[in-house]
Amino acid sequence: MLTCSQMTDLVTEYLEGKLSLQQRLRFQLHVGLCRHCRRYLSQMKMIIRALGLLRPVSVPELPGELLRRFRAWKG
Ligand SMILES: [Zn+2]
Repeated sequence: MLTCSQMTDLVTEYLEGKLSLQQRLRFQLHVGLCRHCRRYLSQMKMIIRALGLLRPVSVPELPGELLRRFRAWKG
């Protein structure tokens, strides 16, 4: 069985879906049995979600006309 420190090494890869099936099963088995890692995993998920919200939203291209007016207004 994985140790807790091995778990913390694998958690980002787990959340990114990079683990092999066997690794994922061992990971989930440990999380199922270990309260500390369960809490750690849910904190990691929360952090990742929070970071996702902070990621810059892609700004749509301004139409040329609007951009021209904006430049005229600024200048
Ligand atoms: Zn653990």
